[in-house]
Formats: sequence, structure tokens, C-alpha cells
Amino acid sequence: MSETVAFSKNSVNVFFHILTKCNLTCTHCYINPGQHGNNTLSVDTVTAWLNLFVNKTRNDNLILLGGEPTLHPDLDKIVISARKMGYSSITIDTNGYLFHDILNKIKPDDIDFLSFSLDGATAETNDKIRGNGCYDQCVSGIQNAVERGFKTSLIFTVSNENIHELHMMPALLSHLGVNRFFIQVIGIRGKSGDKSGTPENKKLQVDRNTWMSLIPMVAKQVADLGIIVTYPKVFLKSTEIFECAGLVAENYFIFPNGRVYRCPLCEDFSLHSFEIRDNALIEKEKINEQDLFALNIPEGCVMNKLVQSGNLSYKDDGTPEYQIACCLLKEEVTPRTTAL
Ligand code: SF4
Ligand code: SF4
Repeated sequence: MSETVAFSKNSVNVFFHILTKCNLTCTHCYINPGQHGNNTLSVDTVTAWLNLFVNKTRNDNLILLGGEPTLHPDLDKIVISARKMGYSSITIDTNGYLFHDILNKIKPDDIDFLSFSLDGATAETNDKIRGNGCYDQCVSGIQNAVERGFKTSLIFTVSNENIHELHMMPALLSHLGVNRFFIQVIGIRGKSGDKSGTPENKKLQVDRNTWMSLIPMVAKQVADLGIIVTYPKVFLKSTEIFECAGLVAENYFIFPNGRVYRCPLCEDFSLHSFEIRDNALIEKEKINEQDLFALNIPEGCVMNKLVQSGNLSYKDDGTPEYQIACCLLKEEVTPRTTAL
């Protein structure tokens, strides 16, 4: 069954970059040290900041990110602390290197998902994007995690550099025993944003026809194998209504220099909504991203038009052919259950 996941009013998603350091240099990395700093936060600071967002009366979902979060020597302590605080779900996003023996320091019950990033079904394609040896390392990381009883998910960031291998993912996911599959769309930010005007990066995002035909088809094939699939909607149909998550949902993207964004597409700019200073959450002065959320334009998402307008198309009269959805709007495809 495929359905659009409406923005939830009763849950908060906290995307916490506990450090920006990474062992890899992926060609599409969205981390921007000029905007996000290069600190590694101490456990005490992470705990104090996590406390700013948790509220036991609703669902608080925590996603621990980097850089590479397993490079943090105290990731295990951060996980335990977040669980005690009352976060209802905890996910660690990793490139698969699993530093500091993390699989031996936490138990499968301590987290909900260990989420691996793989950007190709073969080493050839993945390693061109993520670096030599990454494919083997990530696959072996998944296998180790599955063997030890961790629930795993896999994130595949689709671009024109790897979409030709997306159809090979159902077999690979099934072989690896992955529980969830996230298809992402490449964002023109971070390193990709740096080169957005260059010929090699101009066409990183796949076109609308390809996205709307191929992504749902592969998602269904994966769901038929019993694996839940989530992917961003990107292109709205004429019957669908545009909504900006910045106005109707609570998502926080926290960086180790204290910046807190509500919209990932704003992360290359000093447009964050809040700053954490002395462990307190302070509203940032205007102009910030919240001023953009309220703008109503025929193309849908304002930030999309500003930073990655290559996915827009216009009719002869100058009106857009379709609207671009909020990048946080997802479609979820769940495996069919057989009635008894
Ligand atoms: S693994 Fe993540 S943080 Fe590290 S370089 Fe790649 S995209 Fe950037
Ligand atoms: S991606 Fe666009 S629609 Fe979504 S929160 Fe950002 S500005 Fe709003």
C-alpha cells in the first residue's frame, strides 16, 4: 500500500549532527563546515541540547548524524542518555565503517534502527560517489549489524550518477536482510551546491518523468519483498495541495556550532531559526528561514526555487507545469498483508 505521510502534529523529529568530522569525502556531501563548524560535541553538551527538544507527551524521534556519528567516541553514552530522557525512537545514520566498536557497545534494543548509506548496487557505482572500498565496508557493516540482531535501514540517494542501478536494489536489500529502505533525492547543497552551476553538476537531479515512473515502481518491488519503503514526493500532482513543513510540522536540524534549522534546504545559509547558546534555545533574529516559509509562490517550495530550480518547468504562458513538494513530504509503501 502506498500513501503520502502527512506531516504529523504529534511528533517531533530531531536530526542531531553531533559532529561534522567524517572519514569519507563523498562527492555529494551536504555538510558545509563554513556554515556548520567542525566541533565534536561532548556527551554533556549533547545531553543538554537533547533536553531542549524532548517532551514525553508526544513522539520524539531522534536521528543521530555526522559527519560520521560512529567517529564520536561516546556515541554509546549518547544513545543511552537519549533513551533515558524519553526519546521514543532513536536511529543512527552511518556510512558503514562503524568506528569505536559501536556494535559491541550498544545492544539492539538501545536503538530502533541503524541506517546505512549506500549509493549504488555495485561497488563500481557506489565507490565512484563515496570513495574506494566504501561499498564492501558498508555491506559488511550491514551484515554484522543484522547478524547481531540490529534492525537496519538503507538510504540510497538517487542522482543521475546512480539511478541506472536502482532496479538492482530490491535483490540486494533482500539478500542483506535490511528492514527498511529510504530513497532520497540528491539535494543541491553542500558540495553539490558549490558546483551547482558547473556542467557536471547541472543535471545531478533526475527529471520528473524518470522520478515519477521509476521510483514508485522500484518502491513497490521492494515492498513486495516485505520491506517498508519511504521516498520523497518531490513532484506534486495537480490534485495535491502544497504545504511547507516549516509551518505545519516540527523538524529540527541541529549542528554542532549551535545552529538549529527547520528546513534542510536552508542549511547552506545563515538562515537558521534558532541558535543554542549556553545550552539555551534562542530565536535567531530576522531575516531567517521562517520568513521564507510563509511566502506563497506558484512553484510550491520557495527554497527549491532558490537553490535547485533545475527541477522546475514552465508552460508557454510562464506558469509552472507542476508544483514542487516540501522536501520533507514522504510517500510510504508498506508491504501487503495477507488476510487470514
Ligand atoms: S559519509 Fe556522510 S558526512 Fe561523510 S562525506 Fe559522505 S555524505 Fe559527507
Ligand atoms: S523544503 Fe520548502 S516547503 Fe519544505 S520546509 Fe523547506 S522551504 Fe518549506
